[in-house]
Amino acid sequence: MADKIKEPSFRESVNLMVDRAMSATKLDEGTANAIKSCNSVLQVQFPVKIRGKVEVFTGWRAAHSTHRLPCKGGIRYAPYANQDEVEALAALMTYKCAIVDVPFGGSKGALLIDPSLYDRDELEVITRRFTTELVRKGFLSPSTNVPAPDVGTGQREMAWIADAYKHLHPDDINHIACVTGKPVHHGGIQGRVEATGRGVQYGIREFFRHSEDVNSANMSGTLDGKTCVIQGFGNVGYHVAKFLSEEDGVIITAIIERDGALISDEGINIEDLHQHIVEHSTIKNFPGAGFEGNGNAVLEKDCDILIPAALESQITLENADRINARLIVEAANGPITFGADEVLNKKGTIIIPDTYANAGGVTVSYFEWIRNISHIRFGRMQKRHDEMRGHQMASMLEEVTGAKVSPLLKSSITRGADELDLVRSGLDDTMRLAYQEMRGALDNEAGVHDLRTACYVASISKIARSCLDVGVY
Ligand code: NAD
Repeated sequence: MADKIKEPSFRESVNLMVDRAMSATKLDEGTANAIKSCNSVLQVQFPVKIRGKVEVFTGWRAAHSTHRLPCKGGIRYAPYANQDEVEALAALMTYKCAIVDVPFGGSKGALLIDPSLYDRDELEVITRRFTTELVRKGFLSPSTNVPAPDVGTGQREMAWIADAYKHLHPDDINHIACVTGKPVHHGGIQGRVEATGRGVQYGIREFFRHSEDVNSANMSGTLDGKTCVIQGFGNVGYHVAKFLSEEDGVIITAIIERDGALISDEGINIEDLHQHIVEHSTIKNFPGAGFEGNGNAVLEKDCDILIPAALESQITLENADRINARLIVEAANGPITFGADEVLNKKGTIIIPDTYANAGGVTVSYFEWIRNISHIRFGRMQKRHDEMRGHQMASMLEEVTGAKVSPLLKSSITRGADELDLVRSGLDDTMRLAYQEMRGALDNEAGVHDLRTACYVASISKIARSCLDVGVY
């Protein structure tokens, strides 16, 4: 077998991409280094008694930037987690928050664990113990560092974290804001579970509103009928596949999972596949598509849009040349290595970068945090008032025109916005504005030729402004 091509680590890869943008921002070297460096990293090792035996777990939390507080970023549970990866992901969070104007610094955490080896009760004990370590060491609180779900974690873990924090700080009136991505009945917000996938969809829709960008990716027209390959069918991959196929007419021609890939040129029915996985815990034997055992090879399948939504370093110097997508949307963090990015840029493949594409999660987490510290659900004060104004408007229309307003129009103008409507509206607005900002940097900054560099230039400029305004001390 041929030797694997040596590539920079994930953290180095992110820094090389940032360096490429730094030269376009013309920041002085000191400020550039200050922005790039990781402020602090905590490593903890703690024992937990599992099935009568003591096991020692290792976890990390990196706070990349604290120019805005709290710093924010997910916690992942994975058997491959390591400090380099956590630092890379924390750095991405800094740039991500800046591009979508979420007033937070960047952070990330991980626990070295294969969650499939433990039952629910064991995971609860481990999560509560990890939380205690993070709180005691100053790496978790509503005002300084607020985690969220990531690979291998979800609402359940976030609820345990919130409860563990509350027991340590019962006098903190904002205790529920110490973590986001919680269940709705436990202080969470409507629309958070699907927010990252929803944000990817809104980002792609905005791309398709810019016909010059669509043309530069050798495509034309709208999203309707475009073909799409998705890697990873977890939280992010499932939701983006569902929304694009059910709402935008996109044909999902392949889904790649860790146990292989499903292929159907007619399009995979996403809800049927989801049901199949719930019942069988695998994509194998799904009747609605053909099966390919070598999932990674399917990344090279010809398609309009390729969405890596699994993990980092999936498109590398090994396979970048053979990627046949016209547009790649990085729903995962860091799926393309620095070297592969250069290859794809030379080939003319358009890449919507991770720091923008998957920012929907942190955007809605920001809404959840605001909901928690203001102690009120969005829409609670104005929904019925808006409905009353809608009724007044409908009556006025009928009075002025002498005609009856149709029941369909009436129900649409008399409906007050609820929390989910407001979350979607805020997320859509955020994704549109951030794309336009990134696009502005591509148009206006010398030496910027791709969306990733444009995105970094736009976010670095904002972070630099905030650091320079306050000064370094
Ligand atoms: P998840 O654990 O819910 O799903 C990941 C999926 O990828 C799983 O179904 C897993 O089986 C699959 N997978 C793992 N290795 C694979 C491989 N080699 N090939 C194909 N599939 C593989 O995680 P998620 O929350 O959906 O996160 C996915 C990516 O999105 C990660 O990079 C994460 O950092 C990023 N992200 C997640 C969020 C969020 O809100 N959950 C927000 C921003 C970014």
